[in-house]
Amino acid sequence: MARYTGPVCKLCRREGEKLFLKGERCYTQKCAMERRAYPPGQHGRSTQWGRNQTSDFGAQLRAKQKARRVYGVLERQFRRYYKQAIKNRGLTGLTLLQILESRLDNVIYRMGFASSRAQARQMVTHGHFVVNGHRTDVPSMQIKEGDKIEIREGSKSKTLFKDLVAVAEERTIPEWISRDVKKFNGEITRLPERSEIDANLNEQLIVEFYSR
Ligand code: SF4
Repeated sequence: MARYTGPVCKLCRREGEKLFLKGERCYTQKCAMERRAYPPGQHGRSTQWGRNQTSDFGAQLRAKQKARRVYGVLERQFRRYYKQAIKNRGLTGLTLLQILESRLDNVIYRMGFASSRAQARQMVTHGHFVVNGHRTDVPSMQIKEGDKIEIREGSKSKTLFKDLVAVAEERTIPEWISRDVKKFNGEITRLPERSEIDANLNEQLIVEFYSR
């Protein structure tokens, strides 16, 4: 499936806040938001963040773009998720966020097995994960309550996963996920509630954007 392959720090600088797209680097002084805290582009230094949010449309567009970028989803797929959320009986905005949170790459990231969603995505496409006993290479796979995710037996000895236990143990995981780091597996126990999803995302504005 297609994915964004351009410079990711530019995306944070466009949104005017850290989106934590690069794993460990985001927590260091090397972060582009620390070094170049202004919007990207030729006129970036003389541009104010939020300049294009003075209209309702501007604010809705930025809210939608931010969510897309946080979860690493392209426009067509994101719109598909929105249509899926409309069909659901619950609140459209919350359902949309729950669909995004239930993506396999996001769940692996939340379990602490990857330092960013992008890394989780790559690990999945390289076939390192097994869902309910079946190997998968689809990062957008929707994970349901009770689904079991584990690192493939043959991958556990790889350098990538050797230091994983120490790193993953340091990460706090949300309550809707259970995980056993030593056994390299985890499970979704329920869908996340709104309070357990990034508070910086504004699902109401996203819904308004698509219902224009
Ligand atoms: Fe964003 Fe991380 Fe790049 Fe900083 S280092 S600008 S938080 S992606």
